[in-house]
Amino acid sequence: MRLSILLVLLFFAQIGCAQKKSATYTDLYKAYEQYREPSIKDRRFKHADITRILDQLPPAFKVQKLGESIEGRSINSVTIGRGPVKVLLWSQMHGDEPTATMALMDIFRFLSADDDYNRFREMLLDRLTLVFVPMLNPDGAERFIRRNALGIDLNRDALRLQTPEGQILKDIRDQLDADWGFNLHDQNRYYSAGSNPSTASVSFLAPAYNYKKDINQKRGDAMKLIVGMNRILQEYIPNHIGRYNDDFEPRAFGDNIQKWGTRTILIESGGLKDDPEKQYLRKLHFVILLSSFDAIAKGWFNSYSTKEYFNIPFNRGGRFMDLILREVELERNGNWYTVDIGMRNREIDIQQAKDFYRRSAISDIGDLSVYHAYQDVRMKGYRVYEGKTAERAYSSWNALAKVDPIDLLKQGVTHLEVEGNVPLAQADELPFVFLKPGESSGFSIQLGQNPAMILQKGSRIEAVVVNGRFFDLQKDQEKIRKSWNTLFH
Ligand SMILES: [Zn+2]
Repeated sequence: MRLSILLVLLFFAQIGCAQKKSATYTDLYKAYEQYREPSIKDRRFKHADITRILDQLPPAFKVQKLGESIEGRSINSVTIGRGPVKVLLWSQMHGDEPTATMALMDIFRFLSADDDYNRFREMLLDRLTLVFVPMLNPDGAERFIRRNALGIDLNRDALRLQTPEGQILKDIRDQLDADWGFNLHDQNRYYSAGSNPSTASVSFLAPAYNYKKDINQKRGDAMKLIVGMNRILQEYIPNHIGRYNDDFEPRAFGDNIQKWGTRTILIESGGLKDDPEKQYLRKLHFVILLSSFDAIAKGWFNSYSTKEYFNIPFNRGGRFMDLILREVELERNGNWYTVDIGMRNREIDIQQAKDFYRRSAISDIGDLSVYHAYQDVRMKGYRVYEGKTAERAYSSWNALAKVDPIDLLKQGVTHLEVEGNVPLAQADELPFVFLKPGESSGFSIQLGQNPAMILQKGSRIEAVVVNGRFFDLQKDQEKIRKSWNTLFH
C-alpha cells in the first residue's frame, strides 16, 4: 500500500519535473538581453536594416530570396532546422506593424548562439524546420504605412493574389505545406482586453476556416497553443491579453492558411503603457515564440483545452484614449460646465530621419466614464484654460537654454516664440508649443483641436496639458527640468 502511494507520488513528481523543464519561458525571459539584436532599437527600421542582418547570419541558416515587392525590394525566407514538423512565421504584412520582426531578429541571434541552451536549441532544430519570412511588406515598411506600394491591404489579397507580396506568401505556404503558421501583426493601441481597464497589449486568434466557425483538429491545436502562450503572458502582463473575434474573412491570409491545412495563429501586438517603442512587447514575443517552438516540438500544447481559449476576453475596439481629464470645469459663454476631456495622439513621420513626432487632438468631450486612458487623471474642481504665449520671443533655439521651464508654466505660459529651426522630434517631450514669432497656435479647447491647457484651482496653476500629455507641476517638476536640460546642455 505504502509503496504504491510512493510510486504514484514519484510518478507525479516526474510529470511535475518534465513540465518544469519544458517551461523554459522564465529562463528565456531572464536571458533575453544577451540575444537582443542591437542594431534594431525602435520601430521605424527599414528593409535595408533587415537585409543587413540576414546577410550576416551564420551558415546554419539558409537565406533565400523568394521574390521582390512592387518596388523591387527583396522578400526573403530564413530557414533553420532539420525536423519533420514545419513551422512558418511571417511578419509585417502590414508595413507599420514591426514588433514581431524585431523579435524574429532576436530569435535568429538566440538560435545562432553557442551556450548553456545548446541542448534546447538542438532539440528544436532536430524536431522542427523553422521558416521565417520577416517583413513581407518592405515597401509599406519604408513609408511606415499599412498597405503595399499599390495601396492594397495584403491581408485582403489571399484569394485574388494580385500583389507579388501576397503571391510570395501563398507560394511558400504551399511549397512547405507548413504544419504550423504564425501570422504576426500589430494592432490599434486603443483596444482593451475585455472590459478590463487595461489595453490589449497582445491579442490572439486561431482564425476560422469557414463561416460556421467549425473547430477541426488543426484549429483546435492552434487554440491550445494560444492557451499556452496566454498563460505565459499572464505572468508578465496580467489582464493585458485579448482574443480576436473569429468571424470568417474570406479574403484574409490567416483564415485561408488555416483553410489550406496549416494550424494558424494570429498574434497582434497592441499598446502597453510606458512601452511606446514596444521593446518590452518585443521581448515577450521572443519568449512566447520560442516557448511555442518548444510546445510544438514536445507536444505539450496538447495538455491544454480549447475551452480555456474561449476564456480569454475579447479584444474591444476604441475603448482607450491617451489622456482623459476627468471632471474639469470648462467655460463657454460665461458659464462653467463639468466635462471630461479625452485626447488621442497620432504619429507624424519624419521620413529621412526614420523618426516621428506626435500630434494630439481632443477626441471627445463630455461624460467619458466608459473610456479608459493611458494617462487617466481626475481633476475635479479644476478650471481648464488655454495656455498663454510668453511675452518675449527668443532669437534662437539655444537662447532658451537659460529659461526656467517651471517658472513659465506656473505663469500659465505654454507657448514660446522662437526664431529659426526647432528640433521637433526632440522637443516632443517638453510641455511647450514652439511657434515662429507672430505665429498663432490657432487652437482652442474644442473637439478635434490640440490646445495647450492649464489647470487651475483658485489662482494656482497646478498642471498643464501640452500636445496631449499631462504634467503635474509639482510631481513632474524634476522630469520636466531633466528633459529641458538634456536638450540644451
Ligand atoms: Zn496587421
